[in-house]
Amino acid sequence: MTDESHPTDVRMSYRDPLVERLRADGRLQVGRLELLLPQNFGFCWGVDRALAIVEKARHEHSGRRMWLLNSLIHNPRVNTDMRANGIGFLKGEHATEGAMESLTKNDVVIVPAFSAEVEDMQELETRGVDLVDTTCPWVIKPHKRTLKYLREGFTTVIHGTVDHEETRATCSLVQHEGGHYIVVHDLCEAGALGEVLREKIDFGELRRILHPEAFSSGFDAEVHLERIGIINQTTMLASESRAIGDLLRDALLERDGDSGLEENFRDFDTICRATQDNQDAAIAVIDGQPDLFLVVGGYDSSNTKNLARVGDAQNIPSYHVEGPDSVDEVLSFRDRASGEIQRAENWLPQEGPLRVAFTAGASTPDTILGRVIRRVAELAGESLPDSRLTV
Ligand code: SF4
Repeated sequence: MTDESHPTDVRMSYRDPLVERLRADGRLQVGRLELLLPQNFGFCWGVDRALAIVEKARHEHSGRRMWLLNSLIHNPRVNTDMRANGIGFLKGEHATEGAMESLTKNDVVIVPAFSAEVEDMQELETRGVDLVDTTCPWVIKPHKRTLKYLREGFTTVIHGTVDHEETRATCSLVQHEGGHYIVVHDLCEAGALGEVLREKIDFGELRRILHPEAFSSGFDAEVHLERIGIINQTTMLASESRAIGDLLRDALLERDGDSGLEENFRDFDTICRATQDNQDAAIAVIDGQPDLFLVVGGYDSSNTKNLARVGDAQNIPSYHVEGPDSVDEVLSFRDRASGEIQRAENWLPQEGPLRVAFTAGASTPDTILGRVIRRVAELAGESLPDSRLTV
Protein backbone atom coordinates (compact mmCIF):
# COMPACT_ATOMS: atom_id res chain seq x y z
CA MET A 1 0.00 0.00 0.00
CA THR A 2 2.99 2.31 -0.10
CA ASP A 3 2.01 5.24 -2.31
CA GLU A 4 5.03 6.72 -4.07
CA SER A 5 3.00 9.78 -5.05
CA HIS A 6 3.43 10.91 -1.42
CA PRO A 7 7.17 10.65 -0.85
CA THR A 8 7.14 13.49 1.72
CA ASP A 9 9.08 13.15 4.94
CA VAL A 10 6.16 13.87 7.26
CA ARG A 11 8.47 15.01 10.07
CA MET A 12 9.75 17.90 7.98
CA SER A 13 6.22 18.80 6.92
CA TYR A 14 5.26 19.41 10.58
CA ARG A 15 7.70 22.31 11.03
CA ASP A 16 6.29 25.80 11.41
CA PRO A 17 8.28 29.08 11.23
CA LEU A 18 6.07 30.92 13.73
CA VAL A 19 6.40 28.14 16.31
CA GLU A 20 10.16 27.98 15.73
CA ARG A 21 10.42 31.72 16.36
CA LEU A 22 8.34 31.40 19.54
CA ARG A 23 10.33 28.36 20.62
CA ALA A 24 13.51 30.44 20.42
CA ASP A 25 12.16 33.59 22.12
CA GLY A 26 9.33 32.31 24.35
CA ARG A 27 7.17 35.33 23.49
CA LEU A 28 6.10 37.54 20.61
CA GLN A 29 4.27 40.87 20.82
CA VAL A 30 1.70 41.30 18.06
CA GLY A 31 -0.11 44.61 18.50
CA ARG A 32 -2.16 44.36 21.71
CA LEU A 33 -1.51 40.63 21.83
CA GLU A 34 1.36 38.98 23.67
CA LEU A 35 1.85 35.38 22.54
CA LEU A 36 3.59 33.10 25.05
CA LEU A 37 4.99 29.59 24.70
CA PRO A 38 6.55 27.42 27.44
CA GLN A 39 10.10 26.14 27.31
CA ASN A 40 8.91 22.61 26.49
CA PHE A 41 5.88 21.69 24.43
CA GLY A 42 4.79 19.61 21.47
CA PHE A 43 6.37 16.58 19.84
CA CYS A 44 8.32 14.49 22.30
CA TRP A 45 11.39 12.46 21.57
CA GLY A 46 9.32 9.23 21.43
CA VAL A 47 6.92 10.59 18.79
CA ASP A 48 9.71 12.04 16.69
CA ARG A 49 11.51 8.71 16.88
CA ALA A 50 8.35 6.79 15.87
CA LEU A 51 7.85 9.05 12.84
CA ALA A 52 11.50 8.62 11.83
CA ILE A 53 11.20 4.82 12.07
CA VAL A 54 8.05 4.89 9.90
CA GLU A 55 9.75 7.06 7.29
CA LYS A 56 12.74 4.74 7.13
CA ALA A 57 10.46 1.68 6.86
CA ARG A 58 8.46 3.27 4.03
CA HIS A 59 11.59 3.61 1.98
CA GLU A 60 13.05 0.22 2.91
CA HIS A 61 9.80 -1.64 2.23
CA SER A 62 8.69 0.38 -0.77
CA GLY A 63 6.14 -1.54 -2.87
CA ARG A 64 4.95 -3.78 -0.02
CA ARG A 65 1.64 -3.49 1.80
CA MET A 66 2.21 -1.55 5.01
CA TRP A 67 -0.10 -1.38 8.02
CA LEU A 68 -0.33 0.30 11.38
CA LEU A 69 -1.64 -1.96 14.12
CA ASN A 70 -3.57 1.07 15.43
CA SER A 71 -3.08 4.87 15.63
CA LEU A 72 0.66 5.62 15.57
CA ILE A 73 0.03 8.44 18.06
CA HIS A 74 -3.11 10.25 19.19
CA ASN A 75 -3.31 13.04 16.67
CA PRO A 76 -5.88 13.06 13.87
CA ARG A 77 -3.62 14.97 11.44
CA VAL A 78 -0.73 12.53 11.88
CA ASN A 79 -2.96 9.50 11.36
CA THR A 80 -4.53 11.12 8.29
CA ASP A 81 -1.03 11.67 6.92
CA MET A 82 -0.20 8.02 7.55
CA ARG A 83 -3.20 6.99 5.46
CA ALA A 84 -2.31 9.53 2.75
CA ASN A 85 1.12 7.89 2.60
CA GLY A 86 -0.52 4.56 1.81
CA ILE A 87 -0.40 2.99 5.28
CA GLY A 88 -3.54 1.06 6.24
CA PHE A 89 -4.90 0.45 9.75
CA LEU A 90 -5.56 -2.99 11.22
CA LYS A 91 -7.48 -1.83 14.30
CA GLY A 92 -9.29 1.27 15.55
CA GLU A 93 -11.71 3.64 13.86
CA HIS A 94 -9.82 3.65 10.53
CA ALA A 95 -9.35 -0.12 10.33
CA THR A 96 -9.86 -1.87 7.01
CA GLU A 97 -12.38 -4.65 7.49
CA GLY A 98 -10.81 -8.10 7.34
CA ALA A 99 -7.28 -6.67 7.12
CA MET A 100 -5.90 -8.61 10.08
CA GLU A 101 -7.15 -11.91 8.63
CA SER A 102 -5.69 -11.09 5.22
CA LEU A 103 -2.11 -10.58 6.46
CA THR A 104 0.65 -12.68 4.96
CA LYS A 105 4.42 -12.75 5.32
CA ASN A 106 4.61 -10.17 2.52
CA ASP A 107 2.98 -7.53 4.71
CA VAL A 108 4.76 -5.02 6.93
CA VAL A 109 3.09 -4.07 10.23
CA ILE A 110 4.07 -1.07 12.35
CA VAL A 111 3.67 -1.38 16.12
CA PRO A 112 2.65 2.06 17.49
CA ALA A 113 4.64 4.08 20.05
CA PHE A 114 2.21 2.90 22.77
CA SER A 115 3.30 -0.75 22.31
CA ALA A 116 0.72 -3.51 21.76
CA GLU A 117 -1.24 -6.21 23.54
CA VAL A 118 0.45 -9.58 23.82
CA GLU A 119 -2.39 -11.31 21.92
CA ASP A 120 -1.98 -8.96 18.93
CA MET A 121 1.78 -9.51 18.85
CA GLN A 122 1.24 -13.27 18.94
CA GLU A 123 -1.21 -13.09 16.04
CA LEU A 124 1.20 -10.99 13.97
CA GLU A 125 4.00 -13.44 14.66
CA THR A 126 1.77 -16.35 13.64
CA ARG A 127 1.02 -14.63 10.35
CA GLY A 128 4.74 -14.13 9.75
CA VAL A 129 4.56 -10.43 8.88
CA ASP A 130 7.61 -8.16 9.03
CA LEU A 131 7.32 -6.05 12.17
CA VAL A 132 8.48 -2.45 12.49
CA ASP A 133 8.42 -1.64 16.19
CA THR A 134 8.11 2.04 17.16
CA THR A 135 7.39 1.33 20.86
CA CYS A 136 8.76 4.24 22.87
CA PRO A 137 11.50 3.15 25.29
CA TRP A 138 9.70 5.12 28.02
CA VAL A 139 6.71 2.80 27.60
CA ILE A 140 8.97 -0.18 28.28
CA LYS A 141 9.77 1.20 31.74
CA PRO A 142 6.37 0.37 33.32
CA HIS A 143 6.48 -3.01 31.56
CA LYS A 144 9.81 -3.83 33.21
CA ARG A 145 8.62 -2.61 36.58
CA THR A 146 5.40 -4.61 36.49
CA LEU A 147 7.34 -7.78 35.63
CA LYS A 148 9.58 -7.10 38.64
CA TYR A 149 6.52 -6.69 40.86
CA LEU A 150 5.16 -9.94 39.51
CA ARG A 151 8.38 -11.84 40.25
CA GLU A 152 8.34 -10.46 43.80
CA GLY A 153 4.67 -11.35 44.41
CA PHE A 154 3.07 -7.90 44.08
CA THR A 155 -0.18 -6.96 42.38
CA THR A 156 0.29 -3.99 40.02
CA VAL A 157 -1.83 -0.90 40.61
CA ILE A 158 -1.76 1.17 37.42
CA HIS A 159 -2.57 4.87 37.46
CA GLY A 160 -3.88 5.02 33.92
CA THR A 161 -6.85 4.87 31.59
CA VAL A 162 -8.33 1.41 31.02
CA ASP A 163 -8.97 1.91 27.32
CA HIS A 164 -5.70 3.66 26.47
CA GLU A 165 -3.50 1.51 24.21
CA GLU A 166 -0.48 1.77 26.51
CA THR A 167 -2.39 0.65 29.59
CA ARG A 168 -4.14 -2.11 27.62
CA ALA A 169 -0.71 -3.37 26.57
CA THR A 170 0.55 -3.28 30.16
CA CYS A 171 -2.55 -5.09 31.45
CA SER A 172 -2.27 -7.79 28.81
CA LEU A 173 1.39 -8.31 29.70
CA VAL A 174 0.59 -8.73 33.41
CA GLN A 175 -2.27 -11.11 32.66
CA HIS A 176 -0.23 -13.09 30.16
CA GLU A 177 2.54 -13.58 32.71
CA GLY A 178 0.02 -14.84 35.29
CA GLY A 179 -0.08 -11.70 37.44
CA HIS A 180 -2.87 -9.39 38.55
CA TYR A 181 -3.64 -5.69 38.23
CA ILE A 182 -6.07 -2.90 39.11
CA VAL A 183 -6.32 0.28 37.04
CA VAL A 184 -7.26 3.50 38.86
CA HIS A 185 -7.98 6.47 36.66
CA ASP A 186 -7.75 9.30 39.16
CA LEU A 187 -7.41 10.31 42.78
CA CYS A 188 -11.07 9.63 43.42
CA GLU A 189 -10.80 6.01 42.24
CA ALA A 190 -7.54 5.59 44.16
CA GLY A 191 -9.36 6.92 47.23
CA ALA A 192 -11.94 4.15 46.89
CA LEU A 193 -9.15 1.57 46.64
CA GLY A 194 -7.60 3.12 49.77
CA GLU A 195 -10.92 2.67 51.57
CA VAL A 196 -10.92 -1.02 50.66
CA LEU A 197 -7.36 -1.37 51.98
CA ARG A 198 -8.46 0.32 55.22
CA GLU A 199 -11.46 -2.03 55.26
CA LYS A 200 -13.88 0.93 55.31
CA ILE A 201 -15.78 -0.25 52.22
CA ASP A 202 -15.99 -3.72 50.74
CA PHE A 203 -14.45 -4.85 47.48
CA GLY A 204 -17.86 -5.13 45.78
CA GLU A 205 -18.27 -1.38 46.25
CA LEU A 206 -14.90 -0.78 44.56
CA ARG A 207 -15.98 -2.94 41.62
CA ARG A 208 -19.04 -0.72 41.22
CA ILE A 209 -16.93 2.46 41.27
CA LEU A 210 -14.11 1.45 38.90
CA HIS A 211 -14.35 0.65 35.18
CA PRO A 212 -15.61 -2.94 34.65
CA GLU A 213 -12.31 -3.79 32.93
CA ALA A 214 -10.13 -2.23 35.61
CA PHE A 215 -9.40 -5.62 37.19
CA SER A 216 -7.45 -8.61 35.92
CA SER A 217 -9.61 -11.67 35.44
CA GLY A 218 -9.78 -13.87 38.52
CA PHE A 219 -8.96 -10.94 40.79
CA ASP A 220 -9.39 -12.04 44.41
CA ALA A 221 -9.23 -9.12 46.86
CA GLU A 222 -8.35 -11.41 49.78
CA VAL A 223 -5.19 -12.51 48.01
CA HIS A 224 -4.35 -9.85 45.45
CA LEU A 225 -4.54 -6.79 47.69
CA GLU A 226 -2.05 -8.19 50.16
CA ARG A 227 0.99 -6.71 48.41
CA ILE A 228 0.67 -3.86 45.89
CA GLY A 229 3.14 -2.02 43.66
CA ILE A 230 2.22 1.17 41.78
CA ILE A 231 3.17 2.23 38.26
CA ASN A 232 1.81 5.02 36.05
CA GLN A 233 0.78 5.15 32.44
CA THR A 234 3.62 7.32 31.10
CA THR A 235 1.40 10.28 30.20
CA MET A 236 -0.62 10.86 33.37
CA LEU A 237 -0.66 14.06 35.41
CA ALA A 238 2.52 13.72 37.49
CA SER A 239 1.15 15.59 40.52
CA GLU A 240 -1.88 13.29 40.61
CA SER A 241 0.31 10.18 40.31
CA ARG A 242 2.36 11.35 43.30
CA ALA A 243 -0.83 12.04 45.29
CA ILE A 244 -2.14 8.55 44.46
CA GLY A 245 1.14 6.97 45.61
CA ASP A 246 0.95 8.88 48.91
CA LEU A 247 -2.71 8.00 49.42
CA LEU A 248 -2.19 4.27 48.92
CA ARG A 249 0.97 4.31 51.02
CA ASP A 250 -1.00 5.88 53.91
CA ALA A 251 -3.79 3.33 53.53
CA LEU A 252 -1.35 0.43 53.69
CA LEU A 253 0.50 1.99 56.61
CA GLU A 254 -2.78 2.15 58.49
CA ARG A 255 -3.54 -1.47 57.63
CA ASP A 256 -0.10 -3.03 58.12
CA GLY A 257 2.00 -0.67 60.23
CA ASP A 258 5.60 0.37 59.46
CA SER A 259 7.10 -3.09 59.01
CA GLY A 260 4.14 -4.32 56.97
CA LEU A 261 4.36 -1.27 54.71
CA GLU A 262 7.94 -2.07 53.82
CA GLU A 263 6.98 -5.65 53.08
CA ASN A 264 3.75 -5.00 51.17
CA PHE A 265 4.08 -1.69 49.32
CA ARG A 266 6.11 -0.48 46.34
CA ASP A 267 5.83 2.76 44.34
CA PHE A 268 7.78 3.56 41.21
CA ASP A 269 7.37 6.68 39.06
CA THR A 270 6.99 5.68 35.40
CA ILE A 271 5.79 9.07 34.06
CA CYS A 272 7.95 9.80 31.01
CA ARG A 273 10.40 12.71 30.94
CA ALA A 274 8.66 14.50 28.06
CA THR A 275 5.31 14.44 29.86
CA GLN A 276 6.92 15.74 33.03
CA ASP A 277 8.88 18.45 31.19
CA ASN A 278 5.82 19.66 29.25
CA GLN A 279 3.73 19.78 32.45
CA ASP A 280 6.45 21.62 34.42
CA ALA A 281 6.97 24.13 31.60
CA ALA A 282 3.22 24.75 31.29
CA ILE A 283 3.02 25.41 35.05
CA ALA A 284 5.86 27.95 34.73
CA VAL A 285 4.01 29.81 31.95
CA ILE A 286 0.74 29.81 33.88
CA ASP A 287 2.57 31.15 36.94
CA GLY A 288 3.15 34.28 34.82
CA GLN A 289 -0.65 34.84 34.99
CA PRO A 290 -1.62 35.03 31.30
CA ASP A 291 -5.18 36.13 30.51
CA LEU A 292 -5.88 32.94 28.58
CA PHE A 293 -4.27 29.50 28.24
CA LEU A 294 -4.88 27.29 25.20
CA VAL A 295 -3.74 23.64 25.14
CA VAL A 296 -3.60 22.19 21.62
CA GLY A 297 -3.83 18.48 20.86
CA GLY A 298 -5.96 15.45 20.02
CA TYR A 299 -9.02 14.95 22.20
CA ASP A 300 -8.01 11.31 22.71
CA SER A 301 -4.40 12.17 23.60
CA SER A 302 -3.76 11.27 27.24
CA ASN A 303 -0.76 13.56 27.70
CA THR A 304 -2.65 16.50 26.15
CA LYS A 305 -5.70 15.91 28.34
CA ASN A 306 -3.46 15.92 31.41
CA LEU A 307 -1.53 18.96 30.19
CA ALA A 308 -4.89 20.74 30.07
CA ARG A 309 -5.33 20.04 33.79
CA VAL A 310 -2.17 21.75 35.03
CA GLY A 311 -3.90 25.15 35.16
CA ASP A 312 -6.86 23.84 37.18
CA ALA A 313 -5.73 25.42 40.44
CA GLN A 314 -4.80 28.79 38.95
CA ASN A 315 -8.22 30.06 37.94
CA ILE A 316 -7.00 31.16 34.52
CA PRO A 317 -9.47 30.64 31.64
CA SER A 318 -8.02 27.62 29.93
CA TYR A 319 -9.24 25.48 27.03
CA HIS A 320 -8.16 22.23 25.37
CA VAL A 321 -8.69 22.65 21.61
CA GLU A 322 -7.98 20.02 18.96
CA GLY A 323 -6.74 22.34 16.21
CA PRO A 324 -7.43 25.49 14.16
CA ASP A 325 -10.91 24.31 13.19
CA SER A 326 -11.87 24.50 16.89
CA VAL A 327 -10.95 28.19 17.07
CA ASP A 328 -13.56 30.67 15.98
CA GLU A 329 -15.79 33.34 17.48
CA VAL A 330 -17.44 30.38 19.19
CA LEU A 331 -14.67 28.16 20.54
CA SER A 332 -15.05 24.38 20.50
CA PHE A 333 -13.13 22.73 23.34
CA ARG A 334 -12.95 19.57 25.44
CA ASP A 335 -14.25 20.04 28.97
CA ARG A 336 -11.63 18.67 31.38
CA ALA A 337 -14.08 17.36 33.95
CA SER A 338 -16.73 15.73 31.77
CA GLY A 339 -14.66 14.97 28.66
CA GLU A 340 -17.46 16.41 26.54
CA ILE A 341 -16.89 18.74 23.63
CA GLN A 342 -18.40 22.10 24.52
CA ARG A 343 -18.68 25.54 22.99
CA ALA A 344 -17.65 28.88 24.51
CA GLU A 345 -18.80 32.31 23.35
CA ASN A 346 -16.97 35.55 24.19
CA TRP A 347 -13.87 33.58 25.12
CA LEU A 348 -11.45 36.09 23.54
CA PRO A 349 -11.51 39.65 24.96
CA GLN A 350 -11.90 42.05 22.05
CA GLU A 351 -10.28 45.11 23.60
CA GLY A 352 -7.18 46.01 25.57
CA PRO A 353 -3.84 44.26 26.06
CA LEU A 354 -4.13 40.48 26.01
CA ARG A 355 -1.58 37.84 27.07
CA VAL A 356 -2.33 34.41 25.61
CA ALA A 357 -0.23 31.38 26.54
CA PHE A 358 -0.24 28.21 24.43
CA THR A 359 1.11 24.73 24.80
CA ALA A 360 0.76 21.54 22.79
CA GLY A 361 0.66 17.84 23.63
CA ALA A 362 3.50 15.44 22.82
CA SER A 363 1.61 14.22 19.76
CA THR A 364 0.74 17.64 18.32
CA PRO A 365 2.62 18.78 15.20
CA ASP A 366 4.01 22.34 15.32
CA THR A 367 1.98 23.14 12.20
CA ILE A 368 -1.28 22.54 14.11
CA LEU A 369 -0.12 24.69 17.02
CA GLY A 370 1.06 27.40 14.61
CA ARG A 371 -2.29 27.52 12.83
CA VAL A 372 -4.10 27.84 16.18
CA ILE A 373 -1.84 30.75 17.19
CA ARG A 374 -2.41 32.52 13.84
CA ARG A 375 -6.16 32.01 14.16
CA VAL A 376 -6.16 33.56 17.65
CA ALA A 377 -4.17 36.55 16.36
CA GLU A 378 -6.64 36.98 13.50
CA LEU A 379 -9.65 36.82 15.83
CA ALA A 380 -7.99 39.35 18.12
CA GLY A 381 -7.72 41.68 15.11
CA GLU A 382 -3.92 41.56 14.91
CA SER A 383 -1.55 40.64 12.08
CA LEU A 384 1.78 38.92 12.45
CA PRO A 385 4.66 41.36 11.91
CA ASP A 386 6.60 39.28 9.41
CA SER A 387 5.07 37.72 6.28
CA ARG A 388 7.38 34.68 6.70
CA LEU A 389 5.45 33.84 9.87
CA THR A 390 2.04 33.85 8.23
CA VAL A 391 2.53 30.67 6.18
S1 SF4 B 1 4.86 10.98 25.56
FE1 SF4 B 1 6.58 9.96 26.59
S2 SF4 B 1 6.07 7.77 26.52
FE2 SF4 B 1 4.76 8.79 25.02
S3 SF4 B 1 5.90 8.65 23.09
FE3 SF4 B 1 6.46 10.61 24.05
S4 SF4 B 1 8.35 10.19 25.21
FE4 SF4 B 1 7.36 8.22 24.76
